[in-house]
Amino acid sequence: MTRRGHVPQRQCAGCRGRFAKGSLVRFTACPGGAVMLDPGASGEGRGAYICPNFDCFNRALKKKALERQLRAAADFAALRRDFENLIAALAKDGKEKNIRNSKRV
Ligand SMILES: [Zn+2]
Repeated sequence: MTRRGHVPQRQCAGCRGRFAKGSLVRFTACPGGAVMLDPGASGEGRGAYICPNFDCFNRALKKKALERQLRAAADFAALRRDFENLIAALAKDGKEKNIRNSKRV
């Protein structure tokens, strides 16, 4: 599916760095108009991306970057919980190392 040598880049809403799409956590707006985590990155339509770390997550929330980008309301407590679970799952999978090493372009 993904062609060799072509890695889609997305901008992190927290640090504004550009990274391979697959190394970022995707958020999307559900039809009801609330920001939610999109772990499979399969969601249609508008998406916002954040590095899988709490620095970027907190920065993005502080700036209301997700709400602005997705034009949706965000339940920060719920998002933080989902984000924590996702980070824990990534760490368990041993993917954290890969993410940490992903290079800034
Ligand atoms: Zn970031």
